[in-house]
Amino acid sequence: MSASTTFDFAIIGAGIAGVSLAHALSVLALKQGKSLKIIVLEQESQPGYHATGRSAAMFAPFYGPAPIRALTRASADFFQSPPADFSASPLLSPRGELLIARPDQLPRLEAFVKEMGDSLALKRLSGQALQDLLPFMKPGYACAGVLDESGCDIDVHALLSGFLAQARAQGVEIRTGAGVTGLSRGDSREGNQETSHWRIQTRNAEAPVISARVVVNAAGAWADALGVLAGAETIGLQPKRRSALLVDPPAGQAIGHLPLVIDMDEEFYLKPDAGRLMLSPANEDPEVPCDAQPDELDIAICIDRVQRAFDLPIQRIANKWAGLRSFVADKSPVVGWSQRVEGFFWLAGQGGYGIQSSPALSRYAAALLLGQEPPSDILAEGLVPSDLLPERLTTTT
Ligand SMILES: Cc1cc2nc3c(=O)[nH]c(=O)nc-3n(C[C@H](O)[C@H](O)[C@H](O)COP(=O)(O)OP(=O)(O)OC[C@H]3O[C@@H](n4cnc5c(N)ncnc54)[C@H](O)[C@@H]3O)c2cc1C
Repeated sequence: MSASTTFDFAIIGAGIAGVSLAHALSVLALKQGKSLKIIVLEQESQPGYHATGRSAAMFAPFYGPAPIRALTRASADFFQSPPADFSASPLLSPRGELLIARPDQLPRLEAFVKEMGDSLALKRLSGQALQDLLPFMKPGYACAGVLDESGCDIDVHALLSGFLAQARAQGVEIRTGAGVTGLSRGDSREGNQETSHWRIQTRNAEAPVISARVVVNAAGAWADALGVLAGAETIGLQPKRRSALLVDPPAGQAIGHLPLVIDMDEEFYLKPDAGRLMLSPANEDPEVPCDAQPDELDIAICIDRVQRAFDLPIQRIANKWAGLRSFVADKSPVVGWSQRVEGFFWLAGQGGYGIQSSPALSRYAAALLLGQEPPSDILAEGLVPSDLLPERLTTTT
């Protein structure tokens, strides 16, 4: 693209949200016979460096608020049958997700099953069945469980790489090292026409200024900060740190077949990960947008909670990390046009579910951006568009 190119869409953020949207927009434009100029601007030197590269990589259809569950169900087909040449290996592999409850947590387990409508995909397990499945669980710790057999591991690297490769093949430009530092809207003359566009100031030394008709805010934890740069409303986004660590499994125990095991009150979870166990205290500690690091206290709390439930001696921590899960008040994503500034679109607040919902959420956002009706298969899963609009949130500046 020449220095004077005006892009149709500048997507800010090359996490799963921005990259999946670039893919979905280019696919929809192709279907409509439109040629669109799309650029993704990323402040880091590689896509997926923040939340996207630090997740637990789960596809968990029963996790999250109702809009997320609808988007996750609507994403299942994509994960199971991605487009041709999208990925050399499957995007999903069976894992299962097991909620376990101590006697004092039983009422909450029952309430969860009731809320899910006694779904056939959920299998109840007795305390004995749990003990048989998890021989290193302390005897009598949990008295009941619910197994979601549809829970899977996601190959996040393959997913992100597939979106990136196919978007690039459609002409999308992915520009890294291009942190956006300024956004202003102005008019310019193209032939006989006055058009309105964004002037985007970036840290990229070679091409510091970019022009685009529409800016999409897919900046993850930084989405509210980017909104302020644009003069848009704020959505009350709160990044929350979640930490994780990798440890060796109990000696002599095969773990590869185990599901992700999560405490009923989401106080910890563990799952097999390449021969080791990934543990998390499932913390949600408020943070400012940053390159999140695990706090020593997070790690100590995690080990304490897990060891109350399991005989799991921990000699060595093979790896530890943290990432930011960014939520608005109702924990549902924010997708739609700004009510305050023209040509500014929100794609934020994916919280702890942004990978599993990305195929459907990106198709949904692409339809809105191109002035289409929301995809009917997504609405058929029960998504209510007004549940995602930025104007449902009361925080304004
Ligand atoms: C420990 C943990 C476990 C998780 N487990 C799961 C799970 O099992 N399943 C699931 O579906 N989800 C999970 N999640 C949530 C998931 O990772 C997020 O919802 C998702 O990655 C959010 O994607 P994103 O693109 O919005 O954000 P990000 O991946 O953070 O991407 C935003 C990008 O915007 C860039 N950016 C910000 N500001 C600017 C700027 N001014 N200019 C240019 N670029 C900018 C950032 O550098 C960043 O790369 C988990 C998250 C964590 C932390």
